[in-house]
Amino acid sequence: MEDNVLARFAQALASGSIRVIDLSQPLNAATAVIQLPPELGKSWPFHIEEISHYDSRGPAWYWNNFSCGEHTGTHFDAPVHWVSGKDYPRNATDSIPVEKFVAPACVIDVSREVAADPDFLLTPKRVEEWERQHGRIPAGSWVLMRTDWSKRTDAAAFLNMKEDGSHVPGPHPDLVPFLAKERNVIGWGSEGVGTDAGQAFRFEPPFPCHSIMHGSNKFGLASLTNLDKLPPTGAILITPPLKIVNGSGSPCRVLALISA
Ligand code: MN
Repeated sequence: MEDNVLARFAQALASGSIRVIDLSQPLNAATAVIQLPPELGKSWPFHIEEISHYDSRGPAWYWNNFSCGEHTGTHFDAPVHWVSGKDYPRNATDSIPVEKFVAPACVIDVSREVAADPDFLLTPKRVEEWERQHGRIPAGSWVLMRTDWSKRTDAAAFLNMKEDGSHVPGPHPDLVPFLAKERNVIGWGSEGVGTDAGQAFRFEPPFPCHSIMHGSNKFGLASLTNLDKLPPTGAILITPPLKIVNGSGSPCRVLALISA
């Protein structure tokens, strides 16, 4: 075999010394969709309708129509999603340079803290603690917050809506500028329905992971799962959204490559 990096990569895949981990949730009618106040526009839930199933409607073929909002299930957030990111060139699902869809990941495990407090916010101090153990977050990396929130398979527990809004862990408002500007990450990923904490509408600025990340031309990944199968560093993420023209995001089959 040719001795180049891709040949060695192919060999590592074939021998199982690189493993592929699926970080995506199944997409079906039960997939939880973000809940917004009644006066705001609504994201469609995932809906699927059979076209034919080897029957009179199509004797030899099975296929479906489906519909959903761009931000449904495990999905990619593009900078154009937020008003703060609307003026960047190549800021939408079809125009983001494809090189950006393959990038390393740092995984910060706060599952213990989140088990004790669903409103847990990851702070710069906690990230610096992680860095003392695992090294500085390299520029161009994803930062994934492992919370084990995806183990909440019941939609009500996953959304965790109370009278005062949803209670889901996320980044502290001080962490987002730290990651975007001081670490120059490629984006932020979390296990909740969106990238921001459930109570982030109260933060200053509101929804910092949207306003500051996208305002810095960075991306988001939401509703990730299987983060407990990733090492703290060393995983490579593959995250291409659908090539929706001027799309603000799309459901995404997020894969991680890890060395076994
Ligand atoms: Mn989103």
